[in-house]
Amino acid sequence: MPTYTPPLRDMQFVMHELLHVADEFKAMPRHAETDVDTINAVLEEGGRFASEVIAPLNAVGDMQGCTLDRATHEVKTPDGFRQAYEKYVEGGWPALAADPEFGGQGLPIVVNQAFYEMLNAANQAWTMYPGLTHGAYECLRAHGTEQQKQQFLPKLTTGEWTGTMCLTEPHCGTDLGLLRTKAQPQADGTYRITGNKIFISAGEHDFVPNIVHLVLARLPDAPPGSKGISLFLVPKFLVNEDGSLGARNGIHCGGLEHKMGIHGNATCQMVLEDAVGTLVGQPNKGLQAMFVMMNAARLGVGMQSLGLTDVAYQNALAYAKDRIQARSLSGAKAKDKPADPILVHPDVRKMLLTAKAYAEGGRALTMYCALLLDREHHHPDEKVRKDSAELVALLTPIVKAFLTDNGHIATHACLQVFGGHGYIKEWGMEQFARDARINMIYEGTNTIQSLDLLGRKVLANNGATLKKFGRMIAQLVEEEGVNEKMAEFINPLAYLGDQMTKFTTEIGFKAFQNADEVGAAAVDYLRVAGHLVFGYFWARMAQVALREIAAGNTDPFYKAKLQTARFYFARLFPETASLMRTARTGVKVLMDTDEALA
Ligand SMILES: Cc1cc2nc3c(=O)[nH]c(=O)nc-3n(C[C@H](O)[C@H](O)[C@H](O)COP(=O)(O)OP(=O)(O)OC[C@H]3O[C@@H](n4cnc5c(N)ncnc54)[C@H](O)[C@@H]3O)c2cc1C
Repeated sequence: MPTYTPPLRDMQFVMHELLHVADEFKAMPRHAETDVDTINAVLEEGGRFASEVIAPLNAVGDMQGCTLDRATHEVKTPDGFRQAYEKYVEGGWPALAADPEFGGQGLPIVVNQAFYEMLNAANQAWTMYPGLTHGAYECLRAHGTEQQKQQFLPKLTTGEWTGTMCLTEPHCGTDLGLLRTKAQPQADGTYRITGNKIFISAGEHDFVPNIVHLVLARLPDAPPGSKGISLFLVPKFLVNEDGSLGARNGIHCGGLEHKMGIHGNATCQMVLEDAVGTLVGQPNKGLQAMFVMMNAARLGVGMQSLGLTDVAYQNALAYAKDRIQARSLSGAKAKDKPADPILVHPDVRKMLLTAKAYAEGGRALTMYCALLLDREHHHPDEKVRKDSAELVALLTPIVKAFLTDNGHIATHACLQVFGGHGYIKEWGMEQFARDARINMIYEGTNTIQSLDLLGRKVLANNGATLKKFGRMIAQLVEEEGVNEKMAEFINPLAYLGDQMTKFTTEIGFKAFQNADEVGAAAVDYLRVAGHLVFGYFWARMAQVALREIAAGNTDPFYKAKLQTARFYFARLFPETASLMRTARTGVKVLMDTDEALA
């Protein structure tokens, strides 16, 4: 059975030594009182909750899955899931980063993000129930009417009710412009909604008495395509004026999907039959409103894979120290044993270091994004708020796709460390690999993320936001360009920064001739951009480690950080060269293939 130890030391390193978040918070009136001790205390407690309450349910959830009572349409979650959720609510965890106006504790997103990394590592399937609720909360807070906010936000804040996002239909996933669910306006200002949604995570379950569905549907006079989509709030039970639960609404779970992983999370087919809903935001502007939830969810999906990367790494490392097989090529290392631990073999180390580098790089990037969100929401300077919003928009598809691709690579590498035992259920490694797979698909497949990055976030504004990130790299290069000890990190980073500008311009030119060039290059482009961003954070982490070592700090943590940075730049970062090469082969080799694909 796998174990999980919250990576508190590394989280503290990123927060306090790399990003200095507590200093940043001093500039934000809402968070000015959030100091290092408060953050560390919350993380410690949150880590205990994740590892002691949630992690032990991970294998149970995978084995049991969820069951649907077809007569009542109620869903039973795996043993222990509901009780764990009750503890989560009792502990006040849902309210951590929510607005005090609605009963939240108002802590920074950075803290909540770190907590969510640990929950995901412990049990992704369980964590999706509260995770989606938080997204629904954000969406209603941004676009809900006063009445919707007063009626629903306090309950979502405390976790008394949970939320979902209902977008997908059998014939439309990526292309939501095709959706058919209909909303009929009523004389009382409500809408009657009818249609079929599929793949709805946490669509029905036994955690709470009410579920708040955010549903995309079409008004009768809506223009075709994505410009004719509106967003509606459709609760499982209608809510009376005094806040008590009213009649059962016309939305129910018609079936559960049987799937590759995350068995503990109920993936529901939702049937809407004249369900009563209220409009969220403006008519036909539902996608824009839903994007608040989708952006939160995209960062959240990156966090899912980050958690799985870390927990897989922890277990593979422990196994590699314990498992003895064969002798080291350079001579026996454990002479008292009949063979050496597999940790002595270079390729086993490569697999472990790959997962470690992706986990720690991902942690730095996602915490930075969370800090950007805190700045965006609470910094007093409007320019800082605007710049932060632009930067987080640029980084969101990278977090979603790069971290989930890395999670796929890392969980499989860690499974491989176990040899045949990795393929056997009881070790838990195959569950990590299966659970991680969905993260590359939902919330917009990774291909769609790459099109978003290259098409909308980079080419559409002539690379302006990317250049802002480029300036952060240039500043680091300027700071450290003459420091010989940093050369092994700074030189490749500076080189890729230059290359990236040329690479982007080239694709931009080609796209003028043929728009398919964007689709042909986008996936490789996102991976190169992912390494550019990781390279920046790894160089900065190496910088901190080198400074500590130079100052006489003998904590092995810093040596370990430096070694991992070296591994990252030597073994993972160089794939950018082959990615740019393949992207440059362009569209012809893909599209002139009608006979090959006949
Ligand atoms: C377990 C699970 C949970 C989910 N949870 C939810 C949920 O809570 N709420 C919800 O609404 N949905 C949910 N989904 C749906 C999920 O978001 C969609 O499956 C996903 O967006 C892809 O849509 P699709 O499956 O229809 O694939 P399609 O859109 O049919 O795509 C098929 C393939 O074509 C590619 N493709 C499509 N369009 C393009 C394009 N323009 N350019 C290049 N390639 C393209 C895709 O990348 C993909 O590889 C969930 C799905 C699963 C499996």
